[in-house]
Amino acid sequence: MKIACPVCYCDAGEYNINIDEFSIYKCINCGLEHTYPIPTDKELIDFYSRYEDIRADSAIVKLNVQNNLEKLLKYGLNKNSLIFDFGCGKGEFVDIAGKNCYGVEHSNSVGDRIFNNLDNLEIKEFEYITLWGALEYLNDIKQIMKKLSNILKKDGYIIITTVDAEGKIPYYYKPPEHLTYWTKKSLHLLAEYIECDILEISQYNMKQFSHIYLDRLLSRTPKEHAVVIKDSINKLPEIIEIPTNELFTVFKKR
Ligand SMILES: [Zn+2]
Repeated sequence: MKIACPVCYCDAGEYNINIDEFSIYKCINCGLEHTYPIPTDKELIDFYSRYEDIRADSAIVKLNVQNNLEKLLKYGLNKNSLIFDFGCGKGEFVDIAGKNCYGVEHSNSVGDRIFNNLDNLEIKEFEYITLWGALEYLNDIKQIMKKLSNILKKDGYIIITTVDAEGKIPYYYKPPEHLTYWTKKSLHLLAEYIECDILEISQYNMKQFSHIYLDRLLSRTPKEHAVVIKDSINKLPEIIEIPTNELFTVFKKR
């Protein structure tokens, strides 16, 4: 049986890594790492009904929403901009971005300006569409991205942060939660498919408590050494900006 890349449809190649009942293949053309079999909508709904999200501290979540909004200022974001946040989770971004921001979250009950289905959106043309760590969750990438492109104004922007399969920071395969792991080439092919140009692909940085970051960095260090190392660098500010294993990408519609 031939297993094809969900972005460029190229042969997945022979080699794969098995995780539980899934396999991760790497596309020999665009480098996308993708999960096989791709779970159906029903399987994902079942999975998320049993799923407990590990939430970051809410102060950090809010700081990162602010940080994300600031990243969009150089692309012309202002307080009147119409924004749509796809995969908006608990809706922190929608809340903080303000009354011109709407969101969709399939596994969420509806709230203020938040819907559980793309088809229920009343507004059909946005200036900014954001997917903060949502692309890797999609089981039908091209169809969903096409739908999103259809509700994006000409010259509008799609902002995506997603797992960087070419970066220096390790990431874990976690199907069926994360289904794809992206390369620059696969993002360019996706942009082409939805008639967008890519204006930026850069390392995504986030804000984090320095003590949490240090714990993570030192997680493989024996405790007695970790204590000494922490003591010697405890002059870090409480909150620092750290690199992540995600890419920050900006698509602009032609
Ligand atoms: Zn591919």
